[in-house]
Amino acid sequence: MQTADPQVVVGLDVGGTSTNATVLDGAGRFLVDRLVETPSRVQEGPEVTVEALAAAMTEILTLVGLEPSAVRAVGLDTPGPASADGVISSLGATNFSQPAWRGYDFRGALQARLGLPVVYNNDGNAAALYAHHMHFGAEAVRHSSISAIVGTGLGGGVIESGHVIRGAAGMAGELGHVYIPMDGLLAEGQPVPVCNCGFAADAESVASLAGIERNLLPYWLTRFEGHDLATVGSLGKAARLVRAYGEKGDPLAMKVFEQQAMALGRLFTIAANFTDPSAYFVGGGVVEAAPHFREWFLATVREHTVLRPEQAAVVTFALVPDLDMAGARGAALAALEAA
Ligand SMILES: [Zn+2]
Repeated sequence: MQTADPQVVVGLDVGGTSTNATVLDGAGRFLVDRLVETPSRVQEGPEVTVEALAAAMTEILTLVGLEPSAVRAVGLDTPGPASADGVISSLGATNFSQPAWRGYDFRGALQARLGLPVVYNNDGNAAALYAHHMHFGAEAVRHSSISAIVGTGLGGGVIESGHVIRGAAGMAGELGHVYIPMDGLLAEGQPVPVCNCGFAADAESVASLAGIERNLLPYWLTRFEGHDLATVGSLGKAARLVRAYGEKGDPLAMKVFEQQAMALGRLFTIAANFTDPSAYFVGGGVVEAAPHFREWFLATVREHTVLRPEQAAVVTFALVPDLDMAGARGAALAALEAA
């Protein structure tokens, strides 16, 4: 019989506006079953944020009735770009726009403030780790997976034998910026999509909210003249409404999501020939939609993932569960593994 380790790890998922915290015990059980958020205060700069994180940790420990001395490590995750060791990019980052964040050693600063080991992951990798562990449980170290999470951009991660693949500079698993073939994906006369990273025809240029706004919607509005979405005022606003139209089966929205599903299928086809994973996970706003819609989306991704018969016999396609908590929970899993 397994006895629970009395010591715990804390997961802190820091976003542009809020921090989500969780607690994981030594036996791998989450002691918090819901989203517990506090303001992240990242707009006020690094020092204020580090203090806010110390307070968030005290608050989550109080909630589960534990003393700070029960914590043996902390998992931290943030949106990128940042180094593998949690140094925010010297060029800045969308969610860390205040100049003091540039080149800031976030992980090191939090570790110094808390006096505990802090393990860093970017939010896509943390969510990928969580999806992997939830799906495979005790078998996690015997499997590999790829998670693609469709949000403003296209995030995610690559897990091999239960561990995040980080890469030399911390930039492995940047799935959004992998080139995918556009032949047969783009409709007649549809311009080659461009990504915010400067690439043309990468996965994020199609499978992201930014891709809808910049590439897919401007084209498809020309094919569905008089569509409601042409009248909402801005492409940014219209892009955020496309999912609700998709859930109702609107033909323009279905074209947009079909192209996104095809893009993910083509990305997964590359993965199939690269790391040959056991599972492909899809997350993001699109899978928080109505059940019939997300099932259709996942089935369409699968249909466009070209696998060999031997691979098709063993792989799984699934949705990333509990996406709002996946970052904090994945960060905690990484801390438990390292502690
Ligand atoms: Zn890109």
